Amino acid sequence: MSEEIGSKVKLNKLPINPESYEIQNAPARGRFPSWLHRNLPKGANLFKTNAILAKHRLNTVCEEAKCPNRFECYSNKTATFLALGKACTRNCGFCDIDFTKTPKAPETDEPLRIALSVKDLGLKHVVITMVARDDLPDGGALHIAEIIRTVRKECPGVSIEVLTSDFCGETASLDIVLQERPDVFNHNIETVRELSPRVRHKATYDRTLSVLKYVKDSELAGHVKSGIMIGLGETVSQVKQTITDLYNAGCDIITIGQYLQADQRKLLVKEFVTPQQFKEYEDFGHALGVSKMYCGPFVRSSYNAHEVANLARVRC
Ligand code: SF4
Repeated sequence: MSEEIGSKVKLNKLPINPESYEIQNAPARGRFPSWLHRNLPKGANLFKTNAILAKHRLNTVCEEAKCPNRFECYSNKTATFLALGKACTRNCGFCDIDFTKTPKAPETDEPLRIALSVKDLGLKHVVITMVARDDLPDGGALHIAEIIRTVRKECPGVSIEVLTSDFCGETASLDIVLQERPDVFNHNIETVRELSPRVRHKATYDRTLSVLKYVKDSELAGHVKSGIMIGLGETVSQVKQTITDLYNAGCDIITIGQYLQADQRKLLVKEFVTPQQFKEYEDFGHALGVSKMYCGPFVRSSYNAHEVANLARVRC
């Protein structure tokens, strides 16, 4: 999606048919607005991060989902590990991760490879996400728990954030992960109630809220976190209702970022949300009582996750 031009990352070619429809706030058809252009980070860390991930044969959501922040995050020696393979048993309309009905069995050495990579990268806070593994009886919970234990053993003092599937709402699976007391438990609601059936595959708005509430009530996670993508055609009041629902479910941290279409098979961008609108959502959530709202065009649920968790800790 991105293209290096001189010292700029150019994100101005949308993978859509520019004649097919109009995008709100697009400066010209098929182009991104000014707030979605930024400088390319400098330095050798980008290559070092790539080399460490390759050495340990690890998948990242940064690459698999074509995250627009990956140059920046890799330059800061940060990445979000994608556990349990790089093909997902769900086929959400927004997500560029490959879909499969028959994923490979979990790799038993993956927890150690992730832990060694955390060590090599010198991370103080690690985000571990997963593909949805509806083919496994526990949804992959035992594997995630093993990763947490292994990272804690190999890298004492590193805080751990898990960004999980909904485990089909199975509390037995949630309990397996929660027993490891993750510092942050993150599960994204992704979009507003009205758009959920079109945007998400199998996951539902209400099940996500019940998962988050279950995690909060367990008191076994340091922070409960969720995220929303906007620019899919939702209204301001629908976003505010979603923030309110997440707050009532017990979320301490809410992230909101601009949806970008990763390729032509994915949902169309309907609007480039302005920075001012992001600020309005941030202020709305903080006024409601959310400990940390992190909102902006480039925000993703794992973007600057360490800093965001620290800020939530201070405000809690
Ligand atoms: S924002 Fe998250 S997913 Fe994107 S590059 Fe950074 S760490 Fe990876």
